[in-house]
Amino acid sequence: MSAVTDLMRDNIRNLAPYKSARSEFSGRAEVELDANENWRTFVDEERRNRYPDPLAVRLRRKIEEVLGLPFDKTVVGNGSDELIDLFFRIFCVPGRDKALIMPPTYGVYSVFADTNDIGCVSVPLREDFSVDTNAVLKASRDPAVKLIFICSPNNPTGNRVPLAEIKRIADGFSGITVVDEAYFEFMEAESAVTLMDGNPRIAVLRTLSKCWGLASARIGICVCGEDIHRAMINTKYPYNVGGPSQDLAWEALDRSAEVKKVLEGIISERARMAEALTGLPSVLRVYPSDANFLLVKTTDADGIYKSLLDQGIIIRNRSREPGCSGCLRITVGSRTENDRVIEALGSFGVCK
Ligand code: PMP
Repeated sequence: MSAVTDLMRDNIRNLAPYKSARSEFSGRAEVELDANENWRTFVDEERRNRYPDPLAVRLRRKIEEVLGLPFDKTVVGNGSDELIDLFFRIFCVPGRDKALIMPPTYGVYSVFADTNDIGCVSVPLREDFSVDTNAVLKASRDPAVKLIFICSPNNPTGNRVPLAEIKRIADGFSGITVVDEAYFEFMEAESAVTLMDGNPRIAVLRTLSKCWGLASARIGICVCGEDIHRAMINTKYPYNVGGPSQDLAWEALDRSAEVKKVLEGIISERARMAEALTGLPSVLRVYPSDANFLLVKTTDADGIYKSLLDQGIIIRNRSREPGCSGCLRITVGSRTENDRVIEALGSFGVCK
């Protein structure tokens, strides 16, 4: 047994997985009477009466071609949220085990820990939002800690975690390190996928919800070694990603030249917005960002949030997150949307 399977819950390691009709046969037969589907469909797209491919083979081949993530190392999830939940279900015994998180960070990690009855050990980021690696390694020595979530670039702070720090944490920890790269495309730095060869306890998450403009389809990708891969396939819902979503994802990946152009625009808008917001009377600080949003420290987060809402502009109030007092998180949108936010923030508190 490998070190990774040793870390899994007994029930997952010993699971006799469900074999769906589509997982036993994925070709095209003349007569398809294996899955209790209706013989006809009532919508204007072909094969919507048929169950989707449980292994998303066509999509994963496209992911390999366009994103360079090897076919046999990818699992497609119903958003990366599903994949985050799967890590708890595969590696953590409810009521006993724990995950380590570094707040302020993506809120789902602690919520999914709670829904799975898993404890959370929090090692806060430093004041400048860098990771306190020594403190993380120390806290990770608690034998109940089975997972560490590293969000890079981090939501809501926008900064990335240097690869050397990720490596130090993952190599110094005997459990599984999950690196959430939901915002990977917006940073100009190497992926933690490059660390996986030397350490099978690292897994990386990506999503098509951000740069790829497909949040509605719910497509997340887990890049992992063969033991985690097998456990994910066996533990997920058999048909976890719908056929229309798999097809849309393939199509978006096929239009990567367009996506790249828009990505460049978002990155240059991020710089323009950061500059325009810096120095406004209500803005105390714009944090550097490697993502498609800016974290902005303001004089009155609640007041600005409400004022913008009254003008039909919705942003995220993060002022109650640890270390984020006064902070608002603003997504970099279209030029017109960004101008609206800049103008609204510029006129906040100014007597007319
Ligand atoms: N990870 C991070 C860091 C996120 O910010 C988000 C979405 N806000 C997700 C994962 C979830 O992405 P998905 O749409 O793929 O479930």
